[in-house]
Amino acid sequence: MPTNTLPLLDAAALCAAVSSSSGCPHCASLVCPGWESASAPVGPPLLEPVGTLRDPDVYEPTFEEVHDAGTTYWHPRAPIAVHAFPCNRADVWRCPDCRRGFLQYTETGGYYVDHRLRSIDPTLVR
Ligand SMILES: [Zn+2]
Repeated sequence: MPTNTLPLLDAAALCAAVSSSSGCPHCASLVCPGWESASAPVGPPLLEPVGTLRDPDVYEPTFEEVHDAGTTYWHPRAPIAVHAFPCNRADVWRCPDCRRGFLQYTETGGYYVDHRLRSIDPTLVR
């Protein structure tokens, strides 16, 4: 399914779509409690698309990040703030077996493209 037809999820819909599983044999190769660089986007059959956090009505999503004391962009306990960077650019995927959720987006700089992946701990979603 093309990503532009994925439903827009809010925090509640995101938590409802994924499980609190920490993995199963199918998705065990994906170890990414914090954001990790991936050589390419991860898709079927490993993961199935669920929705997106990119609001199509927002022309330029904010680059502001939301953090707790001591967390940074790469921190495994950094909040998954759906309206803040970088979640506001991410699509939502999940393992078809255990429903562990994942966020993916593409970071583009001047001379590089970097795919990034993070598993979803529902207790961090806000
Ligand atoms: Zn799994």
